Amino acid sequence: MPKFFKKKENKTADDKAPKARRMRFISRLRGTKDILPDEYKYWNLVIKKAAELSRSYGFRRMDTPVLENLELYERSSGRSSDIVVKEMFSFVDKNGEKIALRPEATPGIVRSYIEHGMFNLPQPVKLFWLGPVFRHDKPQAGRFRQFNQFNLENIGEASPVADAELIAITYYFFRELQLEVIIQINSVGCPSCRKDYLTKLDNFYKERGRRAKLCNDCKKRLMKNPLRLLDCKEKKCQEIAFEAPQIVDSLCEDCRNHFIKVLEYLDELNIPYNLNSTLVRGLDYYNRTVFEIWPVSAEIPAGKPADEPLRQNALGGGGRYDGLVEYMGGRPTPACGFGIGIERVILKIKEKNIPIKDEEKGDLFLAHLGDPARRKIMILFEELRKNGFKVRQAFTKDSLKGQLETANQTGVKYTLILGQKEIMDGTILIRDMESGIQEIVDYKKIVAEIEKRLGSPSKKT
Ligand SMILES: [Zn+2]
Ligand SMILES: [Zn+2]
Repeated sequence: MPKFFKKKENKTADDKAPKARRMRFISRLRGTKDILPDEYKYWNLVIKKAAELSRSYGFRRMDTPVLENLELYERSSGRSSDIVVKEMFSFVDKNGEKIALRPEATPGIVRSYIEHGMFNLPQPVKLFWLGPVFRHDKPQAGRFRQFNQFNLENIGEASPVADAELIAITYYFFRELQLEVIIQINSVGCPSCRKDYLTKLDNFYKERGRRAKLCNDCKKRLMKNPLRLLDCKEKKCQEIAFEAPQIVDSLCEDCRNHFIKVLEYLDELNIPYNLNSTLVRGLDYYNRTVFEIWPVSAEIPAGKPADEPLRQNALGGGGRYDGLVEYMGGRPTPACGFGIGIERVILKIKEKNIPIKDEEKGDLFLAHLGDPARRKIMILFEELRKNGFKVRQAFTKDSLKGQLETANQTGVKYTLILGQKEIMDGTILIRDMESGIQEIVDYKKIVAEIEKRLGSPSKKT
């Protein structure tokens, strides 16, 4: 006992405490979720894979704040986009400023690129971003109001190689997580060739009372942004969209060559893709290449529009946004990027029952009998941990039976047991958890004894 404590009589202080009334429980918000420890192994796997691939391909990690100016998203995503109109979490703060919880990553990353003068760095600037985004969506399976995205952005590169590289990375990401996907790809052209296309599209929708068959949202979109009619989620609109003129037939020469190059690289890399003429992505800032990643089961049958659930199942998507940096107040800068929804990826991994290595598993367990032994193994624990062993313990438990149960749960091969007798003899027991055989070894030679059985771990400092 530390010197400054004096021995005290046993007294229970709270004998006379008044009984507290049970408080009303406050649950989590609708559309949000807790990530519990059992689930975290999936997160570790996915985040590790994202970080590994990003590093290999030269993307460097960065973060942006959750809170940004509302205007950032109003300007970048377009006032007619679903994200801005229906789904953004926004509020006026105590100073009267209009604030938004980021509904996507790209506008914040572009703001940061401009704000920190990253155009002065060697171009392109390749950025890896991973974090939560917020959308006031209707909650449903695999969709949350706070969810996480993995983004890669390549800012400052106009070459179609950059588009192909991003698509290849998304493909490898899923393949290495053992998820089969197919890339849906399209080109939405540039502002100049899109203009001609929009006229064609407009004429198409005005033909023979087609307009009347559209859903109410699409009737409005026809006035503001007819391109968005193509990716309406209503079945009747999808069927009409499938008949519509295709944008790839209207591309200008530069856009056409760019798109052909992207596809050639994908062919060369053997990456499966599907030319999808109704894919436009719901944001105003895209130009040229747009793509989505669909699970293979969601592959659309040839000659048919995609069903709504298939579109909803997209695991991620992205494209080129050559005009955005300038539009947000920077210099003219070509760029492209993608975002992948982590929760949806995890849902897929669970659906497919893909086995996951449990990182919580240990090599060794330390058990004690009695308080003097407990103090000794608390010191031994640190020594072994510093030597690089994955050691597990249950210091708070008193009974050996309880400790051995915990040892079994952690999946260790050996348990070291220290009791009063071993302390006196200067020894410790090594128990093989599978056979139950116990050996007595010299306490001082413990590290060597463990290394003999488990091999030497890579030493940590
Ligand atoms: Zn063009
Ligand atoms: Zn519609």
